[in-house]
Amino acid sequence: MVQLQDSHCDLLITGAGPAGLMAALWAARCGIHARIVDKRGTKIFNGQADGLQCRTLEIFDSFGFADRVWKESNHMLEICLWNPDETGRIRRTDRIPDTIPGISRFQQVVLHQGRIERFFLDSLKEYSHIKIERGVLPEQLEIDHSKAEDHHAYPIKAKIRHLDDDEATQAQNGTNVPDGLFRSSLAKDDTDDLIRKSRGKEGTTEVIHAKYMIGCDGAHSWTRRQLGFQMQGEQTDFIWGVLDIVPITNFPDIRMRCAIHSAKSGSIMIIPRENKLVRLYIQLTEVNSAGQQVDRSKITPEIILKAAQKIMSPYELAYDYCDWWTAYQIGQRVGNLFSCDDRVFLAGDAVHTHSPKAGQGMNVSMHDTYNLGWKIGLVVKGLAKRSILRTYQSERRRIAQDLIAFDHRFSRLFSGRPARDAADEAGISMAEFKDAFEKGNMFASGLAVDYGASILVAKPGDSGDQGDGTHVGSKANGTGAFVGKQELASNIKLGMRFPSFQVLNQSDARPWHFGHFLKSDGRFRIIVFAGNLQDEKQWKRLQGFGGSLAKPDSVIRRFTPTAKPIDSVIEILVIHSGPRQKVELLDLHEIFHPFDEKRGWDYEKVFVDDVSYHEGHGEAYKNYGVDKESGCVAIARPDQHVGWIGELEDVKDIDRYFSEVLIAQV
Ligand code: FAD
Repeated sequence: MVQLQDSHCDLLITGAGPAGLMAALWAARCGIHARIVDKRGTKIFNGQADGLQCRTLEIFDSFGFADRVWKESNHMLEICLWNPDETGRIRRTDRIPDTIPGISRFQQVVLHQGRIERFFLDSLKEYSHIKIERGVLPEQLEIDHSKAEDHHAYPIKAKIRHLDDDEATQAQNGTNVPDGLFRSSLAKDDTDDLIRKSRGKEGTTEVIHAKYMIGCDGAHSWTRRQLGFQMQGEQTDFIWGVLDIVPITNFPDIRMRCAIHSAKSGSIMIIPRENKLVRLYIQLTEVNSAGQQVDRSKITPEIILKAAQKIMSPYELAYDYCDWWTAYQIGQRVGNLFSCDDRVFLAGDAVHTHSPKAGQGMNVSMHDTYNLGWKIGLVVKGLAKRSILRTYQSERRRIAQDLIAFDHRFSRLFSGRPARDAADEAGISMAEFKDAFEKGNMFASGLAVDYGASILVAKPGDSGDQGDGTHVGSKANGTGAFVGKQELASNIKLGMRFPSFQVLNQSDARPWHFGHFLKSDGRFRIIVFAGNLQDEKQWKRLQGFGGSLAKPDSVIRRFTPTAKPIDSVIEILVIHSGPRQKVELLDLHEIFHPFDEKRGWDYEKVFVDDVSYHEGHGEAYKNYGVDKESGCVAIARPDQHVGWIGELEDVKDIDRYFSEVLIAQV
């Protein structure tokens, strides 16, 4: 047995699925030393999750790879609802937009998980030396609770083992088409078997001492079991099969997202995919186990196809090529706790499981670590206080609970038999189904996320349940009434993500979506709506605000390490209300376009809400709900959620916000 020397890292991530990869990407962008291990020998190449919400695309854009996804994916524009008529024949009854028009600069798309993982891997390579360590299994976990609050300590000790190729390869079901059964809820997890079998064998082990750890190891999470945390909720009786095929069919809407309820044979969801592929989610009535363990060997692609043919009859359906298939039983559960000592965290399927039909799991899993990664990054670097880590559970557990409630409603409506008439109480009303679909679209876009009051969000109200009955101290509840002035920007909601509208770059007149400049690089942003700079009073307000931020004891100077560029912890971005041609960039206070001896002035920080030569007027002030004359100021967190809103004179409040969150560097 080879025992490697003990090693140290800032962050250990178990599991390289979507949640783990997002955590690793933040580590890369924040520049901390992270390791990410996965028990499987290879990444996913086909199948699994495929739906990407508009919020996820916004996040990908902030990391710089949304364009690759946008280009390769299939765009989902319309949903067709098919229901039985009075004779029992299925007919198209409604068409609704897949993404609510105008809510984002992106719309929902589908692309398989393997490609998405590829973009993460490429981005990790571009920004760091972090590599996925595959075929590596953690075996033991110890946490020294007494050192949890010591910034310099490594309280986590994890023993890992490098598996051989056989152990690291996922078992397949024996058909010649790749399947995802090994990851399905119908399969038994193999982690304990692997640990048992590899003990005493030749192999390399290593002890890693880590400051922080995130368990992103999926629904059967080993990390969760080591912590002794529970999943709360239910297993449902619905068994679903999934087929990724190139269909040969006369069904007219095969290239649309469709929800089909048949009169007697169950329901099917059609998801058109890239490369002529179509995914079918089918309820398998034949093998419904009514709560008992299902015999997986009974489920084959042929059985799933047969069920689909029955639902879609009289239309014909066949295939020559099947790319992937799986089957699963829906469990709707949320973890009771998401963190231990704010040192070891759980994310993704490790703390919430539900049905895949609403296309949420991969998205919400990535959003968990998108919420957490920058917090750990800034704390490890000594820039932010450890107390911000508490907001992970308060913010994300609430989202997981909302997700389960949404999935519960959606699954029941989708899986149920259509009502024969208004008196048929056991059946599902198709009007109710359509209504749920339309209302659910906002939730499903990922844009409805609204974080509660905390030290990171200065708004009234409750911080959110911590799972253990406690609440995160909020600005509103903890240290007196400190809330942002929501009325100054009616469409920039405290706690929600900062919306994006078209603005022009002041220095070159190019139109941009403002969201493009809210990069995921670990920086907070002060966004100054400078208002009408033709008005002398307003001009003085802006210059006065700039002067305050430039002072030696300002938040910008205090929280930025002396050796670092002035915008490396908090970046200031300005949008004035025009006209562009009446304003000279260099007349604005230097803090708004900082000078670098080697690179000159910064030309990417001042924008204007004005008409562009070729792409019209973005009407940003109107869309943001900000007064064009007097403007306002907003703080966006590194994950683009809005932390505070105030006036240009509210410098003390800005100081108060950052003083609770960041650590003075000088
Ligand atoms: P996982 O993707 O499960 O990744 C966990 C990783 O941890 C794996 O790589 C695994 O090998 C590794 N691991 C496990 N145990 C250990 C261990 N002990 N040590 C080391 N590594 C370990 N979601 C959507 O958003 N949109 C969709 O369209 C969608 N469709 C779906 C379709 C199907 C058929 C299925 C099954 C799921 C679908 N989902 C969808 C859900 C989505 O796949 C999951 O929610 C998502 O993959 C969860 O990401 P994760 O990173 O938390 O976990």
